Amino acid sequence: MPEQAESAVRRIMASDTYARAVAALRVEHGRTVADIVRLTEIPAPPFREAERAGAFLSMAQAHGLGDVALDDVGNVTAVRRGRGEGLICVAAHLDTVFPPGTDVTVRLDGTRLLAPGVGDDTRSLAVLLAWVRAMDAAEVRTRADILLVADVGEEGPGDLRGMRHLFQRGEYAGRIDAFITVDSPEMGRITTGGVGSKRYRARFRGPGGHSYGAFGLVNPMYAMADAVARLSRIEVPSTPRTTYSASVTGGGTSINSIPDHVWTEFDLRSESADELARLEAQFLALTEAAAATENAVRSTTSGQVTVELEKIGDRPAGRTDEEAELPRLAHAAISAHGFTPAFEFSSTDANIPMSLGIPAIKIGSGGTGGRGHSLQEWIDVEPEASLRGMAAGLTTVLAAAGVS
Ligand SMILES: [Zn+2]
Repeated sequence: MPEQAESAVRRIMASDTYARAVAALRVEHGRTVADIVRLTEIPAPPFREAERAGAFLSMAQAHGLGDVALDDVGNVTAVRRGRGEGLICVAAHLDTVFPPGTDVTVRLDGTRLLAPGVGDDTRSLAVLLAWVRAMDAAEVRTRADILLVADVGEEGPGDLRGMRHLFQRGEYAGRIDAFITVDSPEMGRITTGGVGSKRYRARFRGPGGHSYGAFGLVNPMYAMADAVARLSRIEVPSTPRTTYSASVTGGGTSINSIPDHVWTEFDLRSESADELARLEAQFLALTEAAAATENAVRSTTSGQVTVELEKIGDRPAGRTDEEAELPRLAHAAISAHGFTPAFEFSSTDANIPMSLGIPAIKIGSGGTGGRGHSLQEWIDVEPEASLRGMAAGLTTVLAAAGVS
């Protein structure tokens, strides 16, 4: 399989068509950078991606793509027709982690662009369009049609709702043969494993009362603290990597009150769907046990401690076999451009297709960058490094879609 992938990639890279496509990427690099700036300066906080989606939609229309549409959850979809032998989806996410009001003005420092969200994942949106222009300039005819998606809901609170809709309910559900998400500049890593996560907000309630006068009454804070301590003692495997955290907490009434209500948010993760299910079951049992213990050791004459669990995040774990065709083609294409890619686990848009058994990977958009998810986020658009990465990504897409 590696040999087949390498020869497929060699064939593509030896063609005149490929040379023309790469030349077009180079000629158009200034426009690609301008598109990165334009899209970055349109804020796209979680659940508020609409304005950026609108801009991307008109750009996709201006590129002459087919079936350009906004779906029911706000993903932009567009098709570059090939010979219709299958459908390959290439996606980048619209949303950033930054809240409304964040200054998203792009600052320039040499060939660096600095702004929140510029690399994760706005650069990739512009790169998708650059690939379309390059394929058009070189008159590339792929075997599979290419579905381009600018999706919503990749970052934390979005809970992959864009991908869930695309793969489970939207008009392309059941029709996508392989999936490539382009996320952040880094070309040295190809994601083939999707870390799954379950997130809960646990609310512990009790009757509440005076801290002095009602001393001896059940206290939901003790039950919650007991739950956190029980979680901290769970032993999880390091392979497949499985983790947990008690992360955010709040509640209480006043310093001189037994609280009537406290809450904590919990984050559970694993590379393995089975381990994640096991950890989740332990977590659910220990919150109940903590409440029961508190009710057993203190007075419930005014009421009991109860626990309510609200699921606030659910990303399925999944995996694409590293020996499968898509990862092998990506590895060969990216290696052929001078990178040494490694396969990795991560939590990305690819989790959803992976969990459904559809071959899926994440690759980078090219160039370098850093400080993702911080206000100091930056990318470098120095043309040589930037173009090398973009050419590697384009080769991956061409190899996955097939060119005859
Ligand atoms: Zn991202």
